[in-house]
Amino acid sequence: MKKKVIIIGSGFSSLSAACYLGKAGFEVCVYEKNNDFGGRARQFKQGGFTFDMGPSWYWMPDVFEKFFNDFGKKCSDLYEIKKLNPAYRVIFEDGEEIKIGDSIENIMQTFEEIEKGSGKKLRDFLKECKENYDLAVSNMLYKMPGKSVFELINYQTILKTGLFITNIKSQINKRFKNPKLRSVLQFPVLFLGAKPSQTPAFYNFMNFADFGLGTWQPKNGFFDVILSMIATAKNFGVKFYNNSPVQEILVKNKSVHGIKTKNKIVKCDIIVSGADYSHTEKLLPKILRQYSDKYWSNRTWSPSSLLFYLGLNTKINDLDHHNLFFDTDFDNHADEIYSNPKWPKSPLFYLNITSKTFNHTAPKGCENLFILIPIATDLDDNEKTREKYFNLVIKRIENKINQKIKNSIVYKRSYCIKEFKDDYNSFGGNAYGLANTLTQTAFLRPKLESKKVKKLYFSGQLTVPGPGVPPSIVSGKLVSDLIIKDEINI
Ligand SMILES: Cc1cc2nc3c(=O)[nH]c(=O)nc-3n(C[C@H](O)[C@H](O)[C@H](O)COP(=O)(O)OP(=O)(O)OC[C@H]3O[C@@H](n4cnc5c(N)ncnc54)[C@H](O)[C@@H]3O)c2cc1C
Repeated sequence: MKKKVIIIGSGFSSLSAACYLGKAGFEVCVYEKNNDFGGRARQFKQGGFTFDMGPSWYWMPDVFEKFFNDFGKKCSDLYEIKKLNPAYRVIFEDGEEIKIGDSIENIMQTFEEIEKGSGKKLRDFLKECKENYDLAVSNMLYKMPGKSVFELINYQTILKTGLFITNIKSQINKRFKNPKLRSVLQFPVLFLGAKPSQTPAFYNFMNFADFGLGTWQPKNGFFDVILSMIATAKNFGVKFYNNSPVQEILVKNKSVHGIKTKNKIVKCDIIVSGADYSHTEKLLPKILRQYSDKYWSNRTWSPSSLLFYLGLNTKINDLDHHNLFFDTDFDNHADEIYSNPKWPKSPLFYLNITSKTFNHTAPKGCENLFILIPIATDLDDNEKTREKYFNLVIKRIENKINQKIKNSIVYKRSYCIKEFKDDYNSFGGNAYGLANTLTQTAFLRPKLESKKVKKLYFSGQLTVPGPGVPPSIVSGKLVSDLIIKDEINI
């Protein structure tokens, strides 16, 4: 008889595990608390506007390709993607902008124009970043379930070069003098959830992901990938249940026995939870939890976010698909997120306009805007504060583009700490899980497998390899590999 696996949640890591375990011959059921599947990558449509609710930077296309190849498909069989040019635009305090092109040569030229000699330095730096990318992504990522330090010791090159001792900020600052170029080069590691000064230099492979592999956009947004993963899982008989919050993990003889949802008990042999790790442990009796409340409170969390989804009944004259408003002091804002958590005085923010690339994501003559302000977790989140920041960022956008847009807003929705907690059971309302700092890397992250409850496994951005869509997809594979190895007799 087939062994039954229950998967909690339907984010990228859960869907990845559902596909691999379904393919391996398990009977798999996915239980999602929300009405819509996809977790932080859900999508909603309103008045002709389409909004991806979370991820918008499609980086590391090779990880998506490898995932679908494992099921005999290519991404292009399932959804259409386009490489963006410019990949993104960075806007600085003095009004100056840097547009990042779609090839290394192109970007080298931009660097050279800003700082003499930096084009060649960039080429040399990216060569190193590519070596790390090949080592990390092609080699380590899929082979490191984060069980012990010995996994890392196998990769002596990293240890020898001390890439886990130096941080990415000082590595970049040693090579590049211009503050704007430094900011641009530090941007990719923000995806890992911590300050560049806290992120090991090894993660400079993100710079290769950025400049070397480019920024892509699926035609109907990230949700194209979610739908393709659900279709892949359903091909293997995986069943999906929405509006089904798991309230309890049932344990018998120190092994999982089933789950309790709001109206039923479902028995199973194995559980994989892609819900936030800290929440999943709360579904167990206290004695069976591996990590205490203190442990979670002492972690370095990725930021939360204040988000605005806006529909405009006009076109924006200037700006691109991805726009980074780095027009205030980065270090001050970073301190207000990590060192001295409070609402930021003058935040950096990100503005996404997918209708600049695919105009079917907004009605004719209209534009869909998605604004993201990174903030510390667990701040006091209320309507008045949200409105204050809304007015602040709209003003900065209007000043930049020299166009009034506030009166053209025909749809507006905000999303912040409260919704992150209510919708995803997210610790402190974090947006991207646990940051990848030196002490929260690889075997130092919460484990994929429970030490206290047999057959209970975890996936997602709080475990290995870390935050972001590609790592979450890999996490679903790593956990599936462990289960398949343990249950080899199915
Ligand atoms: C605003 C934002 C922007 C981002 N931008 C990017 C980007 O541009 N590029 C990128 O690569 N990454 C980005 N990320 C990060 C990326 O989206 C996440 O790392 C990834 O989607 C996490 O997937 P996951 O499977 O770990 O978790 P989730 O997507 O959070 O999935 C967990 C699921 O578990 C469900 N759940 C929780 N509790 C229960 C329960 N008790 N019972 C049943 N179900 C439950 C939740 O509802 C959710 O569906 C962004 C994230 C956010 C929030």
